Amino acid sequence: MIRLHDSATQEVVPLQLRDEGKVSIYVCGPTVYGPPHIGHGRSVLVYDVLRRYLTWRGLEVTFVSNITDIDDKIINRANDENRDWSDIAVKCESVWWSAMDRLDALRPDLIPRATEYVEQMVQLIADLVDGGKAYETTDGVYLSVEEVEGYGLLAHQSLDDLRAGGGDRDLVGEEKRHTADFALWKRSKPNEPSWPSPWGNGRPGWHTECVVMSLDLVGEGFDLHTGGLDLMFPHHENERAQAVAMGKTFARHWMHHGFVELEGEKMSKSLGNVKNLLDLTDEYDPRAYRLLVLQSHYRSPMELTEENFGHVLAALSRLDAFARRVDDLDGDPDADVLAQFQAAMDNDLDTAKAVDLLFRSVRDANTALDNDDRTAAAAAAGAALEIAGALGLRLGGVDTEVPDEIVALATERGKARADKDFARADALRDQITAAGWSVEDSADGPVLVPIS
Ligand SMILES: [Zn+2]
Repeated sequence: MIRLHDSATQEVVPLQLRDEGKVSIYVCGPTVYGPPHIGHGRSVLVYDVLRRYLTWRGLEVTFVSNITDIDDKIINRANDENRDWSDIAVKCESVWWSAMDRLDALRPDLIPRATEYVEQMVQLIADLVDGGKAYETTDGVYLSVEEVEGYGLLAHQSLDDLRAGGGDRDLVGEEKRHTADFALWKRSKPNEPSWPSPWGNGRPGWHTECVVMSLDLVGEGFDLHTGGLDLMFPHHENERAQAVAMGKTFARHWMHHGFVELEGEKMSKSLGNVKNLLDLTDEYDPRAYRLLVLQSHYRSPMELTEENFGHVLAALSRLDAFARRVDDLDGDPDADVLAQFQAAMDNDLDTAKAVDLLFRSVRDANTALDNDDRTAAAAAAGAALEIAGALGLRLGGVDTEVPDEIVALATERGKARADKDFARADALRDQITAAGWSVEDSADGPVLVPIS
């Protein structure tokens, strides 16, 4: 049984599906106004792993992730740069997908864009106004949270607490009935992009986009609504509020992942440039980021350091060497290991444990091969490759490019070893190390890994 932490109940609970054998997932996608950063990367990787795992478990997954292609941030940038807002959205979206492709994240099954749904959003808002759940102000239309049963489910706060805490501060005066009331429709200023509505030309609020697109594409009572912790409140709370105000059931289960932190001051100069996901994947094998994400629990904060990148790059190199070494082995994967993998992943996606099992199977397979036990090696290797595949970790193909002079030194060292001239082999190893590379011997020859 798959169990996941539900942000609404704050407990790890069985994933109760709406339709047997099928999972519908809606992930809040990016607002496309700039390059994707490392936090986006973690989000995409966490839910890519979830999706792949659920598929591996035999479930039919429908994965929807939207593009917010109209928003204040896009408009502000357009004004600053004197460009067309839609040009920014289109270009930033294309950059987004190229970054996600580098991360080897599967494209969503459906990718709704907010601007394609404005008419449906206007209809929803009109229904909410008609039903007395929303009201018009001088700058747009607001949802009245006091009209919503159970508002505060994800905030884990009562309406009184929320009132004390303040809320949307962009509306001055007494027009808002409650500080947590939020804009469904924003009247546009001159020269801003706008769509017609009964409340004047304007554009929909962000929270209205996702509720309309999710209900349209995965329907009432869909299984999983996910995103970063920062989206839980107010974004997800407010999406839900609109559905509830319409008398509709919304997500059955809420899942949120933790933040990414770059290591402190000391090292930030070297890592400072990798906040941008494209820079990060230029700098490092993109699989390194996936492996780092897998090694942290999705709900925990995750710290990126040069050191942990160094560790995973070395680990990837060993995994690649392993994949090449076991390429010709044939046999059934170790069922016991796969059962342990499934138990770990079923337990709120314990990817760190899954990665431990992967490495343990690799060690077991290598040891068995060293002992010429090809049957045991095939079982362990089969399990390792199956786990790597289920986690979306591609092995064997990608290598860090090693400079020619380092390859030459490693070849020299190989000859020295073959001649049993170990003093010379050691001296060459020292030279390779001094140049920033470590060398390990495998059945396929030397494996060179950059030392971080
Ligand atoms: Zn959303």
